Amino acid sequence: MRVLIVGAGLSGLSTAMFLGLHGVESLVVERHATTSLHPKARGQFPHTMEALRLAGVDQRVADASPPDFQFRIIVAGTAAGPVHSEILVDDGGPDLSDFSSAGWANASQERVEPILAERAVHLGATVRFSTELVEFTQDQDGVVALLRDLATGEEETVRVDYMVGADGHRSPIREALGIGVAGRGVLGTGVGAIFEADLSSVLPRNALVYLKNPELPGAGGVLVSTDEPGRYALGVGTGEYDEDRWVEMIRVAAGVPGLDVRLLEVSGNSDTQHWVADSFSSGRVHLVGDAVRVMPPTGAFGGNTAIMDGFSLAWKLAMVIKGEAGPELLDSHTPERRPYSEYIAEQQYTFYVHRMAPELDDGTLMPPADPTSMLFFGYRHVSDAVVLEPGDEGELLEPEPTGRPGSRAPHVVLPDGSSTIELFGRGFVVLTGSAHWVVKAREVGLTAHLLEGEAWAKAYGVTEAGAVLVRPDFFVAWRTPDAEGDLRGALRHVLKLRE
Ligand SMILES: Cc1cc2nc3c(=O)[nH]c(=O)nc-3n(C[C@H](O)[C@H](O)[C@H](O)COP(=O)(O)OP(=O)(O)OC[C@H]3O[C@@H](n4cnc5c(N)ncnc54)[C@H](O)[C@@H]3O)c2cc1C
Repeated sequence: MRVLIVGAGLSGLSTAMFLGLHGVESLVVERHATTSLHPKARGQFPHTMEALRLAGVDQRVADASPPDFQFRIIVAGTAAGPVHSEILVDDGGPDLSDFSSAGWANASQERVEPILAERAVHLGATVRFSTELVEFTQDQDGVVALLRDLATGEEETVRVDYMVGADGHRSPIREALGIGVAGRGVLGTGVGAIFEADLSSVLPRNALVYLKNPELPGAGGVLVSTDEPGRYALGVGTGEYDEDRWVEMIRVAAGVPGLDVRLLEVSGNSDTQHWVADSFSSGRVHLVGDAVRVMPPTGAFGGNTAIMDGFSLAWKLAMVIKGEAGPELLDSHTPERRPYSEYIAEQQYTFYVHRMAPELDDGTLMPPADPTSMLFFGYRHVSDAVVLEPGDEGELLEPEPTGRPGSRAPHVVLPDGSSTIELFGRGFVVLTGSAHWVVKAREVGLTAHLLEGEAWAKAYGVTEAGAVLVRPDFFVAWRTPDAEGDLRGALRHVLKLRE
């Protein structure tokens, strides 16, 4: 096995699945006996669905979403009202058809993780539950990890080329590597309960209510429906609450005095935090998901970004392992994922303050970005793994697709109704309108797509005689406006191939 992945959450399973797609087997170890039993992250944005489509699981994830996609997010005194503001009345997500041919899904983490695990195994990964990483060391040639089977107590040492730390917000791996974190820190501490009750008269089946209510600890909380009809979760400020107090708080949150409540589970303290790791890599160990970035859940980016971390890292790891790229390609993991992580974490903090803690608004909040463009498709990967053009000042965001290197390849509808995005993902590809570049692409072992018309060229900022080199993660690596240009040199630069 060439790669050890620690943690079978969304980020670890995504990494394993995309590694498999690129032909690299991995071993995933997870200390729990199963994937998550809690719904936690809900919702897949179109950029995540594009990646899941590439892996062949988008439809399964869509099918795992509640049938009536509607999801309502409100700020209210109780579920029964008064409603202070409506944040989202979702009838399938905003129309992003200018940016993507993929849709939205609304599946919960509890349902998505088994789908990713099954696909990862199908593509060659081994997933071992009840197995933990005890300790590891690394040297120039690889990583040696001590694993323990929690059912039998047996220990085993494995040696791998690379290790991926997908071990969640506490990330013992990040700690062991001595990588620090920076951010706004702990924003609050809360406890939660899962319960069953008939709230149909006050709450549509899929809903999230940010509660503002002086009768609740901390004068607020969050009430959210789960995939199980009649089952809900309530989160409130930290404290020691007995069953009677929970029932009382649930009745207050629902706004239904005397509500019949069946308490199923009460969870311990958990912090709402905001931080991003100083580095996402150290030597042969790379970090993904909550191990490198924790933010308030207000915005639903935690799960989406965890999946996209795996998508972003896997092709690089695979190409390095297969000898198709130099190991320095992996140096781009931090510069590509960290600035976006900081940006997303800051955005979610803004949502958090607006929805739950207006008293924290000290005038330094980042203004909310246009969700239809910047958050999903308008962020750039500015690193040495693209060939930036003269005059490019390395902006992290662009409101409209430009096709310049470092940006997401624009979505253009092709004559057969498919999207340019569907041409990408398995390896580097060239888009062109000219036979000249098809030949040049073949010379360097790449697939070229010969496109008709000028729409694609306009969107990508070239002429039909030009060419665009697109990475497996749908980001533009290099482009040339016409028949001039050094495709081979660009590829060698991006892949860190020595002469
Ligand atoms: C209550 C709650 C609600 C949330 N709601 C949302 C939401 O609505 N939207 C959203 O986008 N995000 C939400 N999130 C955040 C989202 O769940 C996370 O961002 C996402 O799960 C991160 O995935 P991950 O794979 O990085 O980490 P995790 O899912 O935490 O997985 C890490 C895994 O590593 C395992 N592990 C750790 N150490 C070891 C070891 N030494 N050996 C073996 N295994 C190990 C752990 O057991 C764990 O399973 C929520 C989180 C919580 C807790």
